[in-house]
Amino acid sequence: MTNHFSTPEHEIFRKTVRDFAEKELLPHKEEWETAKTFPKSVFKRAGDLGLLGVCFPEEVGGSGCDYWYKVIFCEEILRCRMAGVAMDLEVQADISTPVIQYLGSDEQKELFVKPAIKGDKIGALGVTEPGCGSDVANIKTTARVEGDDYVINGSKMYITNGGRADFITLAVRTGGEGHKAISLVTFPTDTKGFSVGKTLVKMGNHSSNTTLLFFENCRIPRRFILGEENKGFLYIMMNFQGERLVAAINAVAGCQLSLDDAIRYTTEREAFGKRIIDMQVWQHKFAELQTKIEAARQLTYHAVDLFTRGEDAVQAISMAKLFACDLAQEVGYDCLQAHGGAGYMEEYDISRFVRDIRLLTIGGGASEVMKEIIAKRMRLGKK
Ligand SMILES: Cc1cc2nc3c(=O)[nH]c(=O)nc-3n(C[C@H](O)[C@H](O)[C@H](O)COP(=O)(O)OP(=O)(O)OC[C@H]3O[C@@H](n4cnc5c(N)ncnc54)[C@H](O)[C@@H]3O)c2cc1C
Repeated sequence: MTNHFSTPEHEIFRKTVRDFAEKELLPHKEEWETAKTFPKSVFKRAGDLGLLGVCFPEEVGGSGCDYWYKVIFCEEILRCRMAGVAMDLEVQADISTPVIQYLGSDEQKELFVKPAIKGDKIGALGVTEPGCGSDVANIKTTARVEGDDYVINGSKMYITNGGRADFITLAVRTGGEGHKAISLVTFPTDTKGFSVGKTLVKMGNHSSNTTLLFFENCRIPRRFILGEENKGFLYIMMNFQGERLVAAINAVAGCQLSLDDAIRYTTEREAFGKRIIDMQVWQHKFAELQTKIEAARQLTYHAVDLFTRGEDAVQAISMAKLFACDLAQEVGYDCLQAHGGAGYMEEYDISRFVRDIRLLTIGGGASEVMKEIIAKRMRLGKK
């Protein structure tokens, strides 16, 4: 409901994103969800509108805006009602490229960040593997040093944008065991030995591209390292903070859209001689959900506030992701229930929402992992 941080300029930007989502993306909902993909030109159009580099500095083609513009982007882009399209654009703008901007060389920014902001190149983040996701310290993909090159072998699983990425921000093992032997590199996908496995068939987020990737003796220059060798685990954890904030913002935005849909539907639908919205049980249910959504929103804004002020935001971000993503499951369940049989039909967005939001408590750090982080910060249990 309330964003105390918003200025008139922020609201002008909100209208730009909303128009893009509702006028240019939403009309293609059935087509792209059925096709289980959307055209590459969407990245280009988003780039032309300045939506892919909102918080990046102007010297790499960004708009140099504060993080609240990013929040607004994530809130409004979901109005296209395809979490898959929103996710692919967010992976491009918020998950695969910021770490290159912070840690990469001028060459890496030129090769990857600038074209990504324009929408000319597509980016992906490659951390998860067939054998491990939550336990990032256990990744097996190796990068062996040979002269001035890394030779990469291994595979990555569930990679968003993986099937059409031009570059991957890739986690690799550059030393022995454990988290102190992991590095992040920028990986151009035209490298010999790289291949894309089958496109994975998912429960939801159908318009999003998710693939398995293979690396077989892929040779890239060592100068494509991000930051320092063997510090990748730390960088991945830092990068997760932005990803988890995006997930929390998306969850809140999705909850609000679903509740608004349920209120609209029950206002029009009658049973037992009266509108469903006139039944007290639903008025109370919606009041309760709106209260929880507002709590999730303000917790998320609090996390954003700490994050943007450069304070330790890890606990607040973990709480926001945990609370907002868990809440989305409850909101989805109740709002579908309010639609009755209609809610079970593809024709109504709520059925897709319920499928799409299931990812939120898993991707980018499962709810249980969020609880582990929060418990650790609370110094619970054995030291
Ligand atoms: C559609 C989709 C898109 C994705 N996109 C990307 C991407 O672009 N790039 C990328 O790198 N990854 C991506 N992922 C991977 C995602 O981040 C992982 O699925 C997630 O981190 C969980 O890892 P996992 O699936 O291996 O689950 P596992 O690690 O095998 O965990 C399984 C379950 O065990 C429980 N669990 C795990 N750890 C703990 C713990 N410490 N305590 C208690 N319970 C625990 C949790 O309930 C968890 O859900 C994507 C996944 C999906 C489904």
